[in-house]
Amino acid sequence: MSKQQLVIIGNGMAPGRLLEHLFDAQGAYDVTIFNAEPRVNYDRIMLSPVLSGEKSFDDIVIHDDAWYETHGITLHRGQKVTQIDRAAKTVTSEGGITAAYDKLVIATGSQPFIIPVPGHTLPGVLAYRDLDDVDAMKLAAAQGGRAVVIGGGLLGLEAAAGLKAQGMEVTVLHLMPTLLERQLDPTAGYLLQKELEGRGIEVRCGANTKAILGEDKVEAVELEDGTVIEAALVVMAVGIRPSTALATDAGLDVGRGIVTDAAMRTSDPDILSVGECVEVDGRVYGLVAPLYQMARVAAATLTDTAAAFCPCRDANQAEGHRHQPVFRRRFRRWPGPRGRGPARCRPRHLSPRDPAGQPRHRRRAARRCGRRRLVQRIAEIG
Ligand SMILES: Cc1cc2nc3c(=O)[nH]c(=O)nc-3n(C[C@H](O)[C@H](O)[C@H](O)COP(=O)(O)OP(=O)(O)OC[C@H]3O[C@@H](n4cnc5c(N)ncnc54)[C@H](O)[C@@H]3O)c2cc1C
Repeated sequence: MSKQQLVIIGNGMAPGRLLEHLFDAQGAYDVTIFNAEPRVNYDRIMLSPVLSGEKSFDDIVIHDDAWYETHGITLHRGQKVTQIDRAAKTVTSEGGITAAYDKLVIATGSQPFIIPVPGHTLPGVLAYRDLDDVDAMKLAAAQGGRAVVIGGGLLGLEAAAGLKAQGMEVTVLHLMPTLLERQLDPTAGYLLQKELEGRGIEVRCGANTKAILGEDKVEAVELEDGTVIEAALVVMAVGIRPSTALATDAGLDVGRGIVTDAAMRTSDPDILSVGECVEVDGRVYGLVAPLYQMARVAAATLTDTAAAFCPCRDANQAEGHRHQPVFRRRFRRWPGPRGRGPARCRPRHLSPRDPAGQPRHRRRAARRCGRRRLVQRIAEIG
């Protein structure tokens, strides 16, 4: 019996994990992947060590060329899918490649949000999402000068630390009065700021970006209060939006993300979706662990096995996972409270997207982790 055709759009961490489960279950599919990025599947979480120079791209590859070959996967690199024809059951890329599917998985992830201030399209204004962004930052860093990072969340602070490690002067602009306000209370945020400043990273909280200035490339950032900060590079780390345009154009149900049921099926039963692009039960997720749970469920659905994504328990725990690799990486010498180790200090309340991240939880989490040590260790980023 000939195998069914499985086409996957996007080659991020979620579909990579889906395929591992599918092959474990010996799912009978011929797999074709289209990826807008011109590369194999890699660990996006580890981009910061690549930026800081601690790791190379090869160190963070999840599936190398040999893996695709072993599993007989056709990987179209640098081929952004521009159309899904649900009637014909085909997808077509901007390079003109068309592939027929029996089952389709949309795993287009997210796009970084760029604040549409004047000058945001100038060369030298970057997001922080993929290897191309990291390469561009390193290239800019080689020229020296000042980098302005807009956004004092974890991603922004990781970018700031990486750029500092690359030898740039760095200013972090943060709209809110204190850093990491969703994770830390104001005292902890203030202490973190002081710690970062002690390490040579300038931090301006309550800073509202008015415009990015420059003729042919970025030259400065202007704040609402009239302050002008010279900048050779601007990195925006101010949030992400699920990539849903393709699904919308194909007439699938789309809300904040591509709407799926708990089995990861979209409004078209032959089309599944996994990853940051998904909205399930009214929620979208920006952390690897819930996406991995989606991947497991989608693989089960593709092999006609009953499974359901359960955002209530695993995914909530999982949402804290956003910090797990970061915290593990950054806090590896940290003994943790009562010597129980850093894993104890992975409070789920610290998810940047967790609507349940109420102040009471944050306070409790900050206490549990030992506020001062938390601040010190975060400041060791880079
Ligand atoms: C610097 C950084 C650090 C992070 N740290 C952590 C962390 O510590 N912990 C944590 O849990 N999470 C972290 N995250 C978030 C985590 O990396 C993401 O949640 C996860 O990678 C999302 O996986 P995904 O497969 O949904 O999408 P993505 O990894 O975004 O992959 C989507 C892929 O689809 C491709 N694509 C999009 N549209 C198309 C199209 N039309 N055709 C073909 N291909 C397309 C894109 O090019 C991309 O390669 C971090 C993210 C970044 C950027």
